[in-house]
Amino acid sequence: MSRSRPDTPEQAEFREHCRLWLQANRPPAPEFRLPQNAVEVMTREQLSYLQDWQNKCYRAGLVGADYPKEYGGGGGKGFQRVAAQELARASTPYMVNVIGLSMAGPTILEHGTEEQKRRYLPALLSGEEIWCQGFSEPNAGSDLANVQTFAERDGDNWIVNGHKVWISLARFATWMILLARTSREHKHGGLTYFIAPVAGADGVTVRPLIKMTGEDGFNEVLMEDVVIPDRQRVDEVGSGWKVAMTTLLYERGGAENAGTGGGETLDDRLQSLIALAKRMPRNGRPAWDDSVVRNEIAKLAIRVEGLRQTARRGRVDALIEDPMRIPLQAKLLASELMQDLAALAVDIEGASASLYVGDERAPDGGRWPLAYLNSYGFTIAAGSSEIQRNILGERVLGLPKSK
Ligand SMILES: Cc1cc2nc3c(=O)[nH]c(=O)nc-3n(C[C@H](O)[C@H](O)[C@H](O)COP(=O)(O)OP(=O)(O)OC[C@H]3O[C@@H](n4cnc5c(N)ncnc54)[C@H](O)[C@@H]3O)c2cc1C
Repeated sequence: MSRSRPDTPEQAEFREHCRLWLQANRPPAPEFRLPQNAVEVMTREQLSYLQDWQNKCYRAGLVGADYPKEYGGGGGKGFQRVAAQELARASTPYMVNVIGLSMAGPTILEHGTEEQKRRYLPALLSGEEIWCQGFSEPNAGSDLANVQTFAERDGDNWIVNGHKVWISLARFATWMILLARTSREHKHGGLTYFIAPVAGADGVTVRPLIKMTGEDGFNEVLMEDVVIPDRQRVDEVGSGWKVAMTTLLYERGGAENAGTGGGETLDDRLQSLIALAKRMPRNGRPAWDDSVVRNEIAKLAIRVEGLRQTARRGRVDALIEDPMRIPLQAKLLASELMQDLAALAVDIEGASASLYVGDERAPDGGRWPLAYLNSYGFTIAAGSSEIQRNILGERVLGLPKSK
């Protein structure tokens, strides 16, 4: 019978190293507010605090642990899973180069040239160069193959024109993983994948987009005659769809092994919700004493535990023959659970939930109404819940394709 993989002696030793290092090196809480997740970074101050933290973790071997040494990694096997678990257990800040670590890095490792791996991976792992993902466009979100940004060959270069939208972290990014059209004759086969310059590049304009939270975590990116050398093309011309599917596979669930650990876990969030229920009044008593509230919290606790078990199933060899199966479920379930958890917190707060971040009377500093508004983004980003359900139904369960 297959079992969840236990630590090898080397992994157990590495786990001990991670624990001791994290105990000794946990960063002091910043004096400014950190965003609720790494793609929401808005200020240089937040960026450099988080970049420093990633860099420290990298130097201690907690980031890039499984990458080959020649590309700046630690050369381990199964070590990143251990580091990610320990980072999550220690509830440290998250890794700010989340798109680099969870999407660009694994994609370059799988499809990039030797030169690309040596050039881009070390600075990606250390957090010195921030990455963003340039896939979505005004008419290419769920229908990603409809990308219209066009790259035209010009000798050893490509000249790129187009409009990308909802691009997280673009304001701080040095590089973008770009999906562009190189032929109008074939829909999927007309796409090619590039490493595009962002910060300071001629022809690139980045415009922040304001969300309903009042924050501006993501951006529009306009590209006008942007020059990309052919050596920054990833894989063959016309293979962009295949490469993008590798990126999406990691985006939708490869994060644990990619080393984006840290940040608040779902269990942390559940515990904060319980603490809130114990503090907030309802009918003259703490909300926690109300059996309806406790019932709702219990339902959420069961779902949190279910997800923890789903993550464990993802490490059972016999269950991951289809690499999409468990990550897709986890993305769908976790994003909807976060939404329901924040909704219950807002409900428990009652009228106080109208006090927002920045108002000193707001319970928990206003984090719950902010989390509630933000939670809608997670059921859309990386493929909306409807699309995830379609994919699970059609490709994992083998149900007939919807028309
Ligand atoms: C917080 C956040 C961060 C993001 N960051 C990035 C980023 O860094 N880089 C990037 O490239 N993109 C990013 N995105 C964009 C994201 O990938 C798209 O928003 C997403 O793929 C949906 O596309 P759309 O917004 O165009 O919606 P649409 O595709 O127009 O969908 C609209 C609605 O129709 C539904 N729908 C569409 N097609 C179907 C179908 N076939 N069956 C059933 N329902 C359907 C959808 O579920 C949705 O409810 C981000 C989005 C968010 C919210």
